[in-house]
Amino acid sequence: MIQSWFKNFFKLLLILISIAWRPTAGQSELNWNKLTHSQTTIYFQQSDLENARQIIYFINEISPAFSTEVKLSIINPVDIYICPSQAIFNSLTRGQIPEWSEAVTISGRNAIILKSPLWSQSRRNFRATVIHELVHILISQKVNHHPVPTWLHEGLAVYFSGEAELASSAMVGKALTTNSLIPLNRIDYVLTFQRDKALLAYQESYLVVKFIIDNYGFSAIPQLLEGFQQHQSLDEIFQKVTRMNFSDFEAQWQQFIQNDRRWDVILDIDNLLWTSIGILFIIAVITLYIRNRKRVKEWEQSE
Ligand SMILES: [Zn+2]
Repeated sequence: MIQSWFKNFFKLLLILISIAWRPTAGQSELNWNKLTHSQTTIYFQQSDLENARQIIYFINEISPAFSTEVKLSIINPVDIYICPSQAIFNSLTRGQIPEWSEAVTISGRNAIILKSPLWSQSRRNFRATVIHELVHILISQKVNHHPVPTWLHEGLAVYFSGEAELASSAMVGKALTTNSLIPLNRIDYVLTFQRDKALLAYQESYLVVKFIIDNYGFSAIPQLLEGFQQHQSLDEIFQKVTRMNFSDFEAQWQQFIQNDRRWDVILDIDNLLWTSIGILFIIAVITLYIRNRKRVKEWEQSE
């Protein structure tokens, strides 16, 4: 169950790229319908009209919270494409995106390329996908497209899109038992990771962001981003926001999750499952033994 569950979650993992992007054949061949709302223009085929309207609804739904809580809002116009097929998705993303990804943000172009929920495998999560990518765009615009660590980008995107509900922290719990947490600065290479390691990277990213918000408040997020916008070093930025340098902060976060009692519960459930299977097996063996003895007795009596 855990394996198939991970597989489903992995389809939700979305990637952020900053490749130079130009309109390609696929884009010019299609006649796109356009829906413009405030700073956002959605390009779609007629069959996706309802999805285009939904995107506007999602943006209106989350914008007030973003601007008040973390001071993130759309600064420059954003283009959102709803691709009617895998071929068009490949064409717009120049075939550089793994098939499992549901969407891509091309930050330098303020563009989001989405698979249409009409054919994409994760139709249930369209809202989460849109919000996830929108968070990437908002962060990139806020820092004026300066580099931001991947754990912060992805952690914020997962935190605000609500994917965290799906992202069980089981991978982190297991990593703690084998002492194999990924150092946060290594998460920048997430696209080169194997599937399980990438999942762990996303879960860690989410947990760090949650740790920051829980301990330093939402106001810490714009403070961090302002530091990146001003090209400050990680240590400078964390000193200002958390009163400690980055490696001390990371150590404190690791200490926190190691002490978190939730892992005991998760591991207990794991153990409980195996114990239950063992007990059921023993009960089955005893039942069979009793039944057989009964039969032997019946045979003896009938003889
Ligand atoms: Zn992402």
